[in-house]
Amino acid sequence: MYLADYHTHSRVSPDGHASMLEMASAAAAAGLNEICFTDHFEPTEPRTTIPRKAFDWSAQTVEYADVTARWNGPVKLRLGLELGDTPFDAALVERLLGGMPEFDFIIGSVHMLSQKFDHQDLAWIQEPDEETCYAEVEDYLETMLKMARWGKFSVLGHMTLPLRYMNDKRGFRVSMDGYGAEMDTILRTLIENGCGIEVNTSRGVQPLPGARWLKLYHSLGGEIITLGSDAHRPEDVGKGIREGQTLLRECGFSRFCTFEKQKPIWHTL
Ligand SMILES: [Zn+2]
Repeated sequence: MYLADYHTHSRVSPDGHASMLEMASAAAAAGLNEICFTDHFEPTEPRTTIPRKAFDWSAQTVEYADVTARWNGPVKLRLGLELGDTPFDAALVERLLGGMPEFDFIIGSVHMLSQKFDHQDLAWIQEPDEETCYAEVEDYLETMLKMARWGKFSVLGHMTLPLRYMNDKRGFRVSMDGYGAEMDTILRTLIENGCGIEVNTSRGVQPLPGARWLKLYHSLGGEIITLGSDAHRPEDVGKGIREGQTLLRECGFSRFCTFEKQKPIWHTL
């Protein structure tokens, strides 16, 4: 089985720690065939809501040039991007993307809520109660639909991300099962725009999104799908990828994608 981790972060990301070379070595140790580095691009300065004036794309290209020059392992390397939060300010994002190098693959992600929640990042909010969680989930879905309509990416990232922070990290028992209509609209929008989704294995903790939404995507005719661990450290590279492939098969998929120059390459599941 072809194994590819299509969501990883190196030290180029503000929340990453290892070099791309260390991440590539970890991919080899985990038995993977391919790794895509998807370091963050955000329209705001790290951990703030201050709009960026510029974005330093060279950090990614220099690090990637270094790893491709030194790497002689069995794992194929690709340069990707996790492009976050366009709805924060689409005009600003379009301007910052003007200097973007050529990427093989782009994840479009929502991490920040809307202005209604002061553009706070889901990772850092401390909800006082479950009611607040659900208000945030609804805001997240609205923001994700805006991201899907924008559509200038390969796949939409971690569609049920609020569950990682609210349940896995903060101990709530939030469910997104009641939002079938909203998820349906987002998935249809993605398909119309030629975009796909990812199975984010959340470093092996739980697939984001889970079976219910993967089956819905498949039933709507969605095909473009990648798998990624969201590893920010070498020890998490490849976690949950094999299980994610099994899950995709159970949900009716017979193939998944890797990307080169933003064109999908298909692999049998
Ligand atoms: Zn993300």
